Amino acid sequence: MQAPSIGGAILPRGNGSVVRLARGSSLSDFADKIDANPASMVQALFHLGEMVTATQSVSDDILELLGSEMGYDVQIVSPEDEDRELLSSFDLSFGENEGGEEDLVARPPVVTVMGHVDHGKTRLLDAIRSTNVVDREAGGITQHIGAYQVTTHLGDDERLITFIDTPGHEAFTAMRARGSQSTDIVVLVVAADDGVMPQTVEAINHAKAADVPIVVAVNKIDKEGANPQKIRQQLTEYGLVAEEYGGDTMFVDISARNNTNIDGLLESILLTADAALDLRANPDMEAEGVAIEAHLDRGRGPVATVLVQRGTLRVGDSIVAGNAYGRVRAMLGDNGENVAEALPSRPVQVLGFTSVPGAGDTIMVVEEDRVARQVAQSRQARSRKAQIGNRRRISLETLGEALAENKVEQLTLIIKGDNSGTVEALEDSLLKLDVGEEVNLRVVHRGVGGITQDDLNLAMITEAIIVGFNVKPVRGVAELADREGVDIRYYTVIYQAIDEIEAALKGLLKPEYEEVAMGSAEIREVFRSSKFGNIAGCIVRSGEIRRNAKARLLRNGVVINDNLAIDSLRRFKDDAVEVREGFECGIGLGSWNNIEVEDEIQTYEIREKPRS
Ligand code: GDP
Repeated sequence: MQAPSIGGAILPRGNGSVVRLARGSSLSDFADKIDANPASMVQALFHLGEMVTATQSVSDDILELLGSEMGYDVQIVSPEDEDRELLSSFDLSFGENEGGEEDLVARPPVVTVMGHVDHGKTRLLDAIRSTNVVDREAGGITQHIGAYQVTTHLGDDERLITFIDTPGHEAFTAMRARGSQSTDIVVLVVAADDGVMPQTVEAINHAKAADVPIVVAVNKIDKEGANPQKIRQQLTEYGLVAEEYGGDTMFVDISARNNTNIDGLLESILLTADAALDLRANPDMEAEGVAIEAHLDRGRGPVATVLVQRGTLRVGDSIVAGNAYGRVRAMLGDNGENVAEALPSRPVQVLGFTSVPGAGDTIMVVEEDRVARQVAQSRQARSRKAQIGNRRRISLETLGEALAENKVEQLTLIIKGDNSGTVEALEDSLLKLDVGEEVNLRVVHRGVGGITQDDLNLAMITEAIIVGFNVKPVRGVAELADREGVDIRYYTVIYQAIDEIEAALKGLLKPEYEEVAMGSAEIREVFRSSKFGNIAGCIVRSGEIRRNAKARLLRNGVVINDNLAIDSLRRFKDDAVEVREGFECGIGLGSWNNIEVEDEIQTYEIREKPRS
């Protein structure tokens, strides 16, 4: 049934039928579902005042608006919902069917150690491990698999505790960024001779954001000048009030170096777990868990450390982990021992995946290999699609729109600066900005130092914009931010930062772009191939040539084509990612074959122009 409706576009009439669309779908995806012409949908939406292309990912509101105009009940499905649906189409679920009360059995707490650099996290993890090794049958040598379990006594009971042994905050935040929570308790290490430092605060913020209780380990009490009471005092400012001061946070004075009071710390972890958490799981079900670490081992193939969260994992199980799948060929414990069965909260290294899962991926056992493969493949297909539908996060430029569309009511910021004075000054001034009632400014984290992967992870979880004052991202972080669409703003003058954020809040900011030259190469020889088209034999004259870079071709200094890309790049017989100045390489410009000796290939990037 056709209905000439919106703005002259011929569209099907929905008559109230339900259409389910993945978050971030495009008009094309929508059109597919209802068998409409995408161009008509673009036209209709234009008439409704929104200009988008057919393949562009659009907001929930737009999908719903257009749907309702056409008489459809559009239901937006989040990535989590989508995965749930995908699993249920295979008659599977994750984290949902754990049986009744009677099936639940106590499981050990899973602990992550966090704190400022050099305050003793690594030393503490070593101390705990070496003094409390689980006495399982003759194992081999200690293996670092990303987590370990220890035994300790609480009263007459012997209890287990699982420690994630990658110190630093990355593992914790990376997992949360992927939607999995593996940590039950955070041990916050603070050196008694140093005090609360930027990463101490960062750790507190991470733990609070994840709603995970904290046990404070006041470390290095053996050192001269150690002042454990000062630490207690300092931390009250961050809402961590020691029990002896009437609060509910346990503080334990330790020396990781001298193994002092490690047992006291373990006891406090258990007491905190017993008081604040109900840690139980059903061991009698197909195992579910999370990958905390994974890599490709030369001899053994993909190796993943799995933390079992529910059920029991067994050798021979068919498993799927995110986009990867396989069958458990062997399991190794943290002492290098072979493990046949892993109960909840037990970390084991799993061999037998056909590819490497991602850290933070959920893991589940399924009935047979075929199902594992199909689930993994469906997820792969979906994540490819999601990558194409480039997910757009909030940036200062889009903030105005997001506010107008009521998508956000607050601007969330992470502030990093070169010293704590300026960071505080900036935060104070920003929080004082008067931008009316509708919008709220929230600072989820502030700290001193470069912009790290942790900051980025937190920004992804909280949809925050990162403000860098006289600081830059540490290596690799800028690229990642780019890929993940996290907006990082750099400033060197406080007033400029304030002005710009105020302007953004008022919806006035427009992005500016500039071209940045990356490299140039001279064509020395042209190889004609019927299969690959013409390949330019080049020497790189300046900078570097990267595969996939945008490119233009010049002949005698005149631009012949400005809209090319380095489609293939080779050094001798091998594919190369980049080739630097002075080296020879073969370049293919995709379907563009009009190349001649002495032509110049220039590559460039379009970057957002830093405001000055
Ligand atoms: P991380 O950066 O937090 O992992 O810190 P490390 O565990 O690497 O420790 C940093 C430094 O502090 C090392 O030189 C440790 O030997 C030292 N350290 C750690 N714990 C103690 C302690 O309890 N007492 C003393 N005196 N030194 C410690």
